[in-house]
Amino acid sequence: MPHNTIFPFYHLVSDDTPVYIRPLYPVRNIKTFRKDLEFLLSKYKPMHLADVQAFVNNGKRGNKPAFFLSFDDGLKEIYENVRPVLLEYGVPAAFFINPDFVGNSNWFYRFQAASLISKLDKLPGTQWKMLSNIFNTNNPEAAILKATYAQKHLLTEAAAIMEVDLDDLLSRFKPYMTAEQIVQLHNDGFYIGGHSMDHPVYADLSLADQTAQTQHSMDYIHTHIHTDYDIFAFPFTEYGVNTAFFDAVKMDVFFGTAGMKNDPVTNVIHRIPMETGNYSARSIIDKQALYYMVKYIFNKNRIYRS
Ligand SMILES: [Zn+2]
Repeated sequence: MPHNTIFPFYHLVSDDTPVYIRPLYPVRNIKTFRKDLEFLLSKYKPMHLADVQAFVNNGKRGNKPAFFLSFDDGLKEIYENVRPVLLEYGVPAAFFINPDFVGNSNWFYRFQAASLISKLDKLPGTQWKMLSNIFNTNNPEAAILKATYAQKHLLTEAAAIMEVDLDDLLSRFKPYMTAEQIVQLHNDGFYIGGHSMDHPVYADLSLADQTAQTQHSMDYIHTHIHTDYDIFAFPFTEYGVNTAFFDAVKMDVFFGTAGMKNDPVTNVIHRIPMETGNYSARSIIDKQALYYMVKYIFNKNRIYRS
């Protein structure tokens, strides 16, 4: 079965979910993450990147149950909480980073939105009205959370209205790893890959921008980390990325987020999001497998790309 080989992915592990992540997705604590790993290790063999490359080269067919872990966004909790646990269990993993955010020189617009949400309840009525006006809605909270990459400027405007200094918040929160910490992960034997420069939705970009976001993030990795492999995880999702992109950009392995799916592009691997609620790793993976089986019956597992 194709789901003998699984690719679970996370963003961070923390006993204290940061305020800028709380409204976005549920975070696993260290104890739960250890349980996840113990479950995975009891059923599956951990893969190194070379095993993943062999799996891809073999037409995505694996014999024994195996898993490959990855983590997106380069958050500081990777270094603080994930690294020690993975080293303790001897489990390899890949970390996908956004160079614009390394060392906290900038941050993900979704984290900015979540930070603003946390300050809305104390907002005076006049400012609430101004927010409603810029988002053209009577529910600015929902609008802030739904702001797209192209609407980043509206978040900056909202922050000004709310008298929130986003740069000050960034320097206090410091959500990301430093370049030195990322180099240390590489020296530990973990794998480092690109995740675009500043985390746009690829389907909303032109082919030229998709290519530039991808290549520039890989250039950073080549310059600072000197990897002898090229791996890339799509920010948000690879949904809507056309074959022209895969003709233009070459990579050893691309990682998507569609769970268990068969992709016409031979070196795209789909991963299972593990931050989906308070469920065990077993139940998340079983649910994905069941979903795959049901769609298998209706021949719905294949992704079509124009
Ligand atoms: Zn991401």
